[in-house]
Formats: sequence, structure tokens, C-alpha cells
Amino acid sequence: SQEQMERLKTLLPDWLETSRLHTSQGKVASYIPELAKSSQDALGIFIADSQGKVISAGDCGIPFTMQSISKVFTLILALMDHGEEAVFFNVGKEPTGDDFDSMIKLELVEPGIPFNPLINAGAITVSSLISGENPQEKSERVLQFFRKLAANDKIDYNLAVYESETESGHLNRSLAYFLKQNGIIKDPVDDVLEVYFRHCSIEVNCADLARMALVLAFDGVDPCSGEELIPRRYVQIAKTFMITCGMYNASGEFAIDVGLPAKSGVSGGILTMVPGQYGIGLVGPSLNKRGNSIAGVHLLERLSKEFDWSLF
Ligand code: GLU
Repeated sequence: SQEQMERLKTLLPDWLETSRLHTSQGKVASYIPELAKSSQDALGIFIADSQGKVISAGDCGIPFTMQSISKVFTLILALMDHGEEAVFFNVGKEPTGDDFDSMIKLELVEPGIPFNPLINAGAITVSSLISGENPQEKSERVLQFFRKLAANDKIDYNLAVYESETESGHLNRSLAYFLKQNGIIKDPVDDVLEVYFRHCSIEVNCADLARMALVLAFDGVDPCSGEELIPRRYVQIAKTFMITCGMYNASGEFAIDVGLPAKSGVSGGILTMVPGQYGIGLVGPSLNKRGNSIAGVHLLERLSKEFDWSLF
């Protein structure tokens, strides 16, 4: 509501600075060498509503790569390309209690498919399902889809991060070979990984994430243009995965403390939403032990409690 937006506008700058103090207790991801260059104490948030009103605070203009946040939207695109049955023939619907890149969970959901589309093995499988003649065409479709959702034609890859991931992603490569060996991915491993590493390295800012989140908050319709960009059912599926597995193995804790569908990435981004109200984009590269933005989670928890945002 108008009143809530006004209160947010007044509270956010101070609250953001309080949360920023927590950045010193976390760590910037360094396993992708290029990500280690992000600034430890950055924190920014952008909130967009359906009337086109926006509120921002902190370092909301800094660019960062989507990383795992992109997995939500490649899942949606794969669902739009092939439908529910075909996608879930290849990837499961169950959360894991393990770290995002765990190998062990590969084998378990019958009949030997990755647990869910948000862990790396599942997301690599989803990348292989995007329609297109070759990795270039598939990647181009993903990029165009993201641009449309963010209402920003300028969104592009961060090629330094893409190359850094390609060079250092040995674990992802081994996951992909395992999937290939088991017939879960059909295309050549390098082709699938190209699509995967590319969508992880798409660069955005908090405003872009907030706009993408807004479309999910309104069940697939861009409330600013009235255009349906995603069928409602696929948004429902995506939001359910965000609740059950969007925040790595802290998803349960986040559901209790914040209670909103959300997806985080190792670059420190978080995309979340208040369904029917706001799209929210946040960045804070300093991560807690579970791999989520330490200051970002702190800020979202405080906001959710203050404004009674929890869905539960
Ligand atoms: N591109 C990253 C990887 O595959 C994404 C990880 C993440 O954000 O969780 O390692």
C-alpha cells in the first residue's frame, strides 16, 4: 500500500546501514576467482511495486552476476519450452539438506535424476532442456527472456566471470559428465556447460532483479504493462521451489524467519518478493556459512517482521 511504501522509504536507509555492519562477519565467494573481487561491505536493495513506484537504498546500482538466481528463470523457460511432464522426467521436486554442489544427492531421486532444479546438477540438466539448435542459440533465448522479464534490453553477460567459471568449474564439469553417463543430459557436456555458465554470468543490478521478481509476485503478468510473460502454473512451480530450496540448506530457516519465496546466488544477490505487492532485488556479496548474503538475510528478516510479510 501507499502507506507501507512511505514507511519503507523512511526506514530503509537506516536499517540498511545497520545490516551493513554484519558484512564484516561473512566472506565473499572466492571459488570462482573473478567473484573474489566483489566488495565485502557492499549492500543494496531495490523494491518495486505494481504502480511503477520504487524505493532503493545503499549500493543498489552495483552490477553483479546472477549465478544461482538465474536457475529459477531457466527452469521457467524450460517449462515453457517443454511442459511440466517432460521437465520433471529429468529432474526431481525434492529439497536436499546438502550444500549446493553436493555430488551425493545426484543418485537418489528415482529414477536416478537430480533432486531439484536449483541444485547445480538439476540446473545443469535444465540448461540442457532449453530449446535451440546449439549452445549459442539456447543462450541467446535465455538472455532475451531475462531482458524481457527485467524490462531492460541492456542486460548482458559478464564475460570475465563467464571465463572464470569455465576455467575453474571442475566440479560442475564432473557433475555434467555424471549426468551424461547416466543419460540424463543428451547434448555434449561442453555444450550444456556453456549454456549453464553463461546464464550464471548474466550481469544485473538490484533494479533488474526487483523487476524480474515483480513478474513472479504477480503470477507471471508484468503489472506495469499488463502483459502475461509466464503462465501462472510455472510461476507457482518456481515459487514453490524458491520456498523449499531457494536459499540452499538454509531454506527452512529462511521460510521460518522471513517466509517469502526467494533465491540467492554466490555473488551475494537475493531475489525475493511479497506476492501481490512487491518485487525485491538485493545484493550483499559477503556470505554467511550457508552461502547466502549475510547482511541481506538480516535486512529481509527485519523487514518481514516489521511489515508482517511472511506467507505463513
Ligand atoms: N555458477 C555458480 C556455480 O555453478 C553458481 C552457484 C551459486 O550461485 O550457487 O558454481
